Parts: sequence; C-alpha cells; structure tokens
Amino acid sequence: MQWEPEAAKELEKIPEHVRQMAKMGIETSVEKKGNNIVTLEDVREAAQRFGALMEKDEKITKIAIVRCDIVSETCPGVACFKAFNKRKMHFGNYGDAEIIGFFTCGGCPGRRVFRLVDSLLKHGVDVVHLSSCMLMEGGYPKCPHIDEIRQMLLKKGVKVVEGTHH
Ligand code: SF4
Repeated sequence: MQWEPEAAKELEKIPEHVRQMAKMGIETSVEKKGNNIVTLEDVREAAQRFGALMEKDEKITKIAIVRCDIVSETCPGVACFKAFNKRKMHFGNYGDAEIIGFFTCGGCPGRRVFRLVDSLLKHGVDVVHLSSCMLMEGGYPKCPHIDEIRQMLLKKGVKVVEGTHH
C-alpha cells in the first residue's frame, strides 16, 4: 500500500500511541474500496469516523458502585448488576451507561472509597452509587459511616446516588 505524501503528513497528526492502529485501519478501508494508494481524503475520512466514535464514548455515563465490605463476604453483587443491566430501580434513568468500577469500601470506616475516588475521577466517573446493602435497615444495620462517605464523594465533585437494586 502506498501513501501520498500529504496523507502521510496528515497521519503524523494522530497521537503516536494509536498511530499504527489508525494506519492499519485506514489501509484496510482503502483496500476495501479497491484502491492501493492512501489519499489525504482517506485519512480525513478516518479521522472523522474516529472523532464520531470518541464523541459517542463521551456521552456514555460512567458509573461506579461502592458496596459494604462486610456484606461482600456473602454477596457477589449479582443483584446490583442485574438492576443495572435491566436499567431497573436506581439505574432506571440511564440510557447509554457503563459500570467502570465495582468495589467494596474496604471495611469500616470506608477509607478505601477515599483512596479510590481519585482513580475513578481519572477514568471520568460521572456518578457513584452507594449500594443498597449500605442503606439496609432492620435485620442488618445501616452503614454508620455513610454520611462521611457521601460527603467525601460530594466534596470531590462526584454525583452520588443512594441505592442500586432496592
Ligand atoms: S463502612 Fe459501612 S459499608 Fe463499609 S464495611 Fe463498614 S458498615 Fe459496611
């Protein structure tokens, strides 16, 4: 596959860590068109497609779920995921969304949440759900540290939703 000089120059504008992958993608699409020379237009078309994909990705709501470490001894989290996958209960308002983190508080008083929230922010988290097991009352006591955990998340600028599956 040959590259017109302008096309090769345009390719240089693509960040280095994805350039090789982009090059292969462009060549495959040129090949599918029955051509063997990559033009400037081919590179620009690919950049547009990539831009549209990035835009789509940006619209996806990124969710993390924090849950009680004690409860995690007996609960694998199936109900949380079921509610998310079916967009039920506290996940009912989401359209395009993905769970990017699912972790326990690390045990009382929940310091792991404090440590992990910075990492979640780096990954673009939009909202943290406090799982329903942290909010239970009756047979199992409600988390006594939930107010501190909530406040800490809010101070970091993260939206908080109380509850997952009930
Ligand atoms: S801090 Fe709350 S959520 Fe974490 S283990 Fe203790 S009771 Fe459970």
